[in-house]
Amino acid sequence: MAELKGKCLCGKIRYEYNGAMGNLVHCHCSRCRKWHGAAFRSRIVVKQDGYRLIQGQEYLAQYQATPNVIKTFCKNCGSSLATIYPLRDNLLGLPIAGCEGKLDRYQEFHIFTDSKAQWWQITDDSLQYKALPANKEIVHCIND
Ligand SMILES: [Zn+2]
Ligand SMILES: [Zn+2]
Repeated sequence: MAELKGKCLCGKIRYEYNGAMGNLVHCHCSRCRKWHGAAFRSRIVVKQDGYRLIQGQEYLAQYQATPNVIKTFCKNCGSSLATIYPLRDNLLGLPIAGCEGKLDRYQEFHIFTDSKAQWWQITDDSLQYKALPANKEIVHCIND
């Protein structure tokens, strides 16, 4: 069991997570780069039933990016928060840079590297996939 806490930039929305965690994915696709305003999005998959919004429900907004991706964010400060996957309703994607706490166990890799920002170089040893891995489940799975 691991525990994470997080909050948005303005602090109106706070959440916590208790439970198993999936792989840590650095996604370089153009959508994630736009959404995060960054070179890539780093997210971890968690179980919906271990995730709890502690405060700020009234500030939570949603944007449906694709049929299986609903982004949530703070209406007040714009921070990116959990991603809801309507076709995988037991899972959430947490942008890990917004979380406080320690990850106790994870596997890390890069996806959609063919779309990465040309001004960014990947210099770590983590696995890299040009697009989605052939085994798509590794992006959305939790090994308890
Ligand atoms: Zn906020
Ligand atoms: Zn992406």
